[in-house]
Amino acid sequence: IKKIGVITSGGDAPGMNAAIRAVVRTCAYLKVECVGIYRGYEGMIDGDFKAMDARSVNNIINKGGTILKSARCAEFRTKEGRQKAYDNLKAAGIDAFVVIGGDGSFNGALIFNKEFDIPIIGIPGTIDNDIFGTSSTVGFDTALNTVVEVIDKIRDTASSHNRLFFVEVMGRDVGHIALNAGVGAGAEEILIPEENLGLERLLESLKRSKASGKSSSIVVVAEGDKTGRNVFELKEYVEEHLPIYDVRVSVLGHLQRGGPPSCFDRVLASRMGVRAVEALLEGKTNLMVGIQDNNIILTPISKAIKGHTKIDKELIRVSEIMTT
Ligand code: ATP
Repeated sequence: IKKIGVITSGGDAPGMNAAIRAVVRTCAYLKVECVGIYRGYEGMIDGDFKAMDARSVNNIINKGGTILKSARCAEFRTKEGRQKAYDNLKAAGIDAFVVIGGDGSFNGALIFNKEFDIPIIGIPGTIDNDIFGTSSTVGFDTALNTVVEVIDKIRDTASSHNRLFFVEVMGRDVGHIALNAGVGAGAEEILIPEENLGLERLLESLKRSKASGKSSSIVVVAEGDKTGRNVFELKEYVEEHLPIYDVRVSVLGHLQRGGPPSCFDRVLASRMGVRAVEALLEGKTNLMVGIQDNNIILTPISKAIKGHTKIDKELIRVSEIMTT
């Protein structure tokens, strides 16, 4: 392998730049050429490439988003689109690539590898932490810190007015952000897709909370929580069944994806980037770099994209004890 491509695809996540930097610098260190592929698979299909040397990634470790840009690309789902992408890679002399993204991006890479036999290694970059084979994805820790910081601020206003806030956080299929940030921010209740606590129990808990003299209440709700009601419907439900509360809603939205990456994500992305390039040069392919018990490991991408990581039952227990 003489030339390695690096691409960010799917939803962006803080720490992607740190991963790009690590891939580029490892290539430079090991004397392999490196090429940045812009705008995800769209840029691969358009041949939007740029040679990257060690200096081209100066001053990006601290930046959110991705300097390579990202995209969702429908054309890559077609055989013709992937053929165009392959022709461009070949013309540019790119022998292998590192894909930084989520499970959709990995799925696309696997299909591409099957058709054209080009070696690929994945780095999990998504704030959702929904990928098997790593205890943390790049961006997750930063998103948690962002959410906790925002909830701290919401609590200041909530307690000044004795209000109840429903705070919606990202997580359509998994509740890792809600559960971890909820525990970290001292939420009264945490509603996640993996468990249905039931609306009755929510009312009971809020009643208890009020009776015990708490001056504010925060309920963290993952987008895909199992009550079947969104935060606005939850507000209406509580107002109807528990009129003792002045209820407000806050949907955090895309701010959860932005901002400078935390130190944890920068270090994680650096370690993963180094391992990804090394793995390609060792002749490996179709693997994803992950972290487990603070060791950098490799997992078949086919396994990584099958099903989600399990929610941490022990943390659910801790959250239950903390909300008594
Ligand atoms: P996130 O978890 O943040 O949403 P993701 O990588 O899962 O990130 P997707 O939009 O699912 O984001 O996938 C990114 C891109 O990967 C798609 O826009 C498409 O170009 C490609 N892709 C996804 N699934 C496939 C597939 N089955 N075949 C070919 N390409 C695919």
